[in-house]
Order: sequence, then C-alpha cells, then structure tokens
Amino acid sequence: MSNAPATAKQIILKTPSEIEIMRRANQIVAGTLNMLREKAVAGISTWQLDVWAEEYARQHDATPAFKGYHGFPGSLCVSLNEQVVHGIPSKKVILAEGDIVSIDFGVCYKGFYGDAAATLNIGEIDAKVADLLKVTRESLYKGIAQARVGNRINDISTAVQAHVEKHGYSVVKQFVGHGIGTALHEGPEVPNFGSGKKTTPRIMAGMVLAIEPMVNLGTYEVKVLKDGWTVVTKDKSSSAHFEHSVAVTESGPLILSDGIR
Ligand code: MG
Repeated sequence: MSNAPATAKQIILKTPSEIEIMRRANQIVAGTLNMLREKAVAGISTWQLDVWAEEYARQHDATPAFKGYHGFPGSLCVSLNEQVVHGIPSKKVILAEGDIVSIDFGVCYKGFYGDAAATLNIGEIDAKVADLLKVTRESLYKGIAQARVGNRINDISTAVQAHVEKHGYSVVKQFVGHGIGTALHEGPEVPNFGSGKKTTPRIMAGMVLAIEPMVNLGTYEVKVLKDGWTVVTKDKSSSAHFEHSVAVTESGPLILSDGIR
C-alpha cells in the first residue's frame, strides 16, 4: 500500500534479526501474491481474491495489514486497468479477459510488516499495456539497485523516473513508497520522481524500504474516487504498480519479498 505524503514519519533502522522477521513477513506476502496469480482468471470477483488473500495470511500465522487501516474495507488492494492503487475488493467487480489487475498485499507477522504488489494480466492483453507492465517492473529493479549505503533516497527516485520516462510513460507523484517496519508506513518517503534536491535522506544499513513505482500509460495525473480510496488516472489510461520491500545491508539491497512470479 502506498503512502499519501502528510507529516514526515520517523526513520527507524532495523537489526539483522528484525530484518529476518521482516523477510518472513514479506515471504508470506510473496506467497499470497503467487497464489493469487494462479487463481486470478476471467470470471473471478475481486472480493474472492480478497478472501483468498486473507485466508492465506492467517494460515501462515500473519494478519492482513490493510484491513481496517485508516478504515480500508478489505485485506487486499485490487486495482483494475485505469485504477492506480487502493481499489476496494467487490463482489460486483469481475475479472475479464484483457484486464490488468494490480494486487497489493500487506501482512503483520510477529509485530513486523510486509508489503508488496504486482500487476497481473488476465489472459491476452493489449501489446502496449503489456509493455507498460514490463517497463514498470523494470523500473522497480532500477530503483532497488540504487538502495545502497551512501546513496540518497533521491537516487532511487531518479532511477525509477528515468527508466519510465525513457519509454514514454509517466510516474504518479501523488503517492509514494515508504519505510516499513513495526508500522506499515514509516519514514522515509520514497517518491518515484526526482526532487532535484540533494537533501533527501542518506540511505543507511538497516533501512527497510517499500519501493513501489506506480506508472501510467498517459499523463501522471490521478484522482481519488468518491469511495475515498480508489485512485484512478484522470485520462482513464491504464496504470501499473509493482512493489517490493527491500532491506539495505552493507553488502547491498536485499529484496525481502523476492520470489514473486
Ligand atoms: Mg507500500
């Protein structure tokens, strides 16, 4: 789940043993997303995906992190096509051939949070949209590669943005990635666009960052629907979203939610 920037949140460094618990939390998230990838086919409602996600988390001794978070009604954020993030699961929303669907899931396990997302294709999708998914996923890994001791958060942001814009797509600016730990959203904010400032935080060993490019086929502009949650592109163009939780170690970035297919 992405963060709408408000007041600055504290940056809290994690010990190696805390990072190990967070790896387990994120592996439960990765397992959930892989399970959903198999089950998300045309004819299935987004409500059903939510039920399966919550069941999977609870079977693995974790609790769904998004359920009730600032009043979010589901366990899973399910965002179709022009929806960017924070789509609400619904019995009325049925997956159809040609859709793309962003599934964003978080859990709390032994007091620590995991958070990751992927955008899936439902059967055959438009070639242009398939390229959007490919470029968005690539941009996530470009950002992760910059999550190194001595760099600044802005190095992650500019790497994501440069890759996206090279391919003619737009990064969403209204929502950002975030630190994660004993809270779902900690500092620092991790934008997907460069600020041009040299004052973004230095990246330190022990930081755990949820890096999450949200990328639109059209313009960067988005709006929130009347339900108070669902973020959509203003021009109704398709949008993709990929997210990993990443620990910064002295030897480089460690993707805690790795293994997502
Ligand atoms: Mg997130």
